[in-house]
Amino acid sequence: MWEGFDRVIFKSAIKSYEAYLRFDQLSGAAEYMRGRGVYLVGWTFILSQVINQVLMTWSYGRFTIDHGISALSCVIVLGVIHLLRYSKRFTFFALFYSALLLIGVMASAFDQGAGINSALIPLILAGAVMNGFISGWRMVAGYTIAAVLVVWLLFFVSYAAFVPDMVDKNVLAGKNFQRAVQASLAFILVSATAAFFSLNMHRMFSILEGNIERAEAADSSKSHFLANMSHELRTPLNGVIGMSGLLLRTDLTPQQRQYAEIVNHSSQNLVAIINDVLDLSKLDAGRMSLKSEPFDLMGLLTGLVALHQPTAHAKKLYIGLDYKPNVPQRFIGDEGRLRQVINNLLGNAVKFTPKGSVMIYVDGEFMADGRVNLGIYVRDTGIGIAEENLEKVFHRFEQVDNRIDRDVQGTGLGLTISRDFVIAMGGGMNVVSQEGHGTTFYFKLPLEVDRRAVPVENGRGLVGQGVTPYVDRRAS
Ligand code: ATP
Ligand code: MG
Repeated sequence: MWEGFDRVIFKSAIKSYEAYLRFDQLSGAAEYMRGRGVYLVGWTFILSQVINQVLMTWSYGRFTIDHGISALSCVIVLGVIHLLRYSKRFTFFALFYSALLLIGVMASAFDQGAGINSALIPLILAGAVMNGFISGWRMVAGYTIAAVLVVWLLFFVSYAAFVPDMVDKNVLAGKNFQRAVQASLAFILVSATAAFFSLNMHRMFSILEGNIERAEAADSSKSHFLANMSHELRTPLNGVIGMSGLLLRTDLTPQQRQYAEIVNHSSQNLVAIINDVLDLSKLDAGRMSLKSEPFDLMGLLTGLVALHQPTAHAKKLYIGLDYKPNVPQRFIGDEGRLRQVINNLLGNAVKFTPKGSVMIYVDGEFMADGRVNLGIYVRDTGIGIAEENLEKVFHRFEQVDNRIDRDVQGTGLGLTISRDFVIAMGGGMNVVSQEGHGTTFYFKLPLEVDRRAVPVENGRGLVGQGVTPYVDRRAS
């Protein structure tokens, strides 16, 4: 738990630090990486100087001029990091760090008798990598030339330096020459690698970002197109539905009546599909708004059962509702969306059940914050869904029972939309099924109770008599 806690704090600290440095002015991941490189290098330097100060105090035992130089350089670096707030010119930062690094190296090398100090070589090498991250291959190349010059400067200075008599001057010069050549080769090698990766990495980033941008633009124009089209299609279709409805009220021959009924029925189906597509494109475009209004859940469910009763009875199916008495009846939420979800599940259950029953079970438990975690189960004794198809049924346009003689209609959008709605409302939907025996689609949804409502006594609507509530352990 603490681990997660730390991570959250750490994350939000970085977030506010980057907000302070105005990272929102950066465009894209590549720039973000450069920006992070700038402050990370800066803070690493400051940290190393703090450690340095402690070590110096420990070894010198007093305050020295070196302490002062180290503290001053920290202040300068701090100032430069702060500049990130006002300027996002990364070449400048790379130049500054490169200069700092090379000057530091020279200062300490001169100090120690002007030899090419091999301990400093890795530091110079790291500079090439740093330039590759913060800036680009050009800075890497420039930096490398400067670093090689510094090495040879040190070589010549050491050549002219005073050498005690016991050391053979020629041997020392030969050694130093060998070191200078090795160091130059190492710089060039590392720099070439750093430049190559830098060039590729930044190019890759811009290609990726271009692709993402294009994909997002295409996706949003698709959603907009769908949303607009479905909206436009609904208007003329409502005309067709209305007019064919009126037509059906006039005197028609049996054959004309049959044709008009087909027109009416087909256009209603079409509107249902268009509404689904509209919902989907709204969900995709993130434009789905949820209502938060008091409603009567029990009333909603009894109404839905009544709505499906004629179809169920025509198939000789029993349809019922079991509403657990401890569950409140009135809630606050989006009644329309909830109706759509349960209507979809009930419609499927009736559609895919040739004999037996369709039942809705409602249970719920109070949560710590006073809301109720509602559980709604729609169970049927129908054809069931094969294990391997259980997840697929929630995919768009997926109808898992693709037999040619399939006699049921639909587009395969109902479950996708239903699950997305439930997720948008803060819940989750799942299914358990046994092929040939039946299916239970269920969802859990935390809802606020409408406390202003007066409890209704004995208002348990169409309750399935003698049925024990179905509690699915897997759901909780
Ligand atoms: P639509 O709801 O868009 O009119 P649909 O009912 O075919 O069409 P979904 O509701 O998304 O689409 O269901 C997808 C598929 O899942 C169905 O075609 C069916 O194969 C399977 N399915 C859904 N509910 C059940 C169920 N209760 N029993 C068996 N199979 C089901
Ligand atoms: Mg359906």
